[in-house]
Amino acid sequence: LRGVVALDGPSGTGKSTVSRELASSLGARYLDTGAMYRAVTLAVLRAAVDPADGVEVERVARAVELVMGTDPLGPGVALDGTDVAAEIRGAEVTGAVSAVSAVAAVRELLVEHQRAVVRAALDQPGGIVVEGRDIGTVVAPDAGLKVFLTASSDARALRRSAQDNAEGRAGDVASTRADVQRRDALDSGRAVSPLRRADDAVELDTTELGVGEVIEQLHKLVER
Ligand code: C5P
Repeated sequence: LRGVVALDGPSGTGKSTVSRELASSLGARYLDTGAMYRAVTLAVLRAAVDPADGVEVERVARAVELVMGTDPLGPGVALDGTDVAAEIRGAEVTGAVSAVSAVAAVRELLVEHQRAVVRAALDQPGGIVVEGRDIGTVVAPDAGLKVFLTASSDARALRRSAQDNAEGRAGDVASTRADVQRRDALDSGRAVSPLRRADDAVELDTTELGVGEVIEQLHKLVER
């Protein structure tokens, strides 16, 4: 792979799994931008700052040191020198991340950081797969391939709860569905919604597809 693959879409579309597997099979780097919003959210919660207080949230976001690993087999997330990859998946962070990512200054800061990670990856052979909500529209509008993943809300809730259970968190389907819907509403209802399909993105509905089938489709798109 040369260049950037932008993979956007809501949670529960299998985005993280397929992004990592795609990057690994292509010998590319990988960046999980959701993990960056989650890490800042963890810092906000640790500082006992109200996630709705934009001024304080921005202060925390500017003060923390965030280092993103780009190995698709084990992308680390270091917050002030400590790995927080597991902690950022917890319910507390998940419940507050929409509010934190709605702060414009946080988005500006992280988009700048994301572009720097992409530039560094493009200095090496192999390219980079970047997953998120606004990669094709904002972070990497020049990406060589943009894919927008979708799935029915039932399929997405099922996948999220299966993932939560596999990773040792309680995750019944009903409460996960409620959380997925709440986050969708928050993520799409803001003045500047991060989740938008780029005009030149290929839409791929994963409702009826297994991970292997999605990867197969993506390989075809990469080879086009
Ligand atoms: O992808 P993930 O579920 O980990 O993302 C967590 C949250 O981070 C999303 O619900 C969204 O609020 C925010 N996010 C964002 N822009 C991105 C990636 C994630 O606003 N590019």
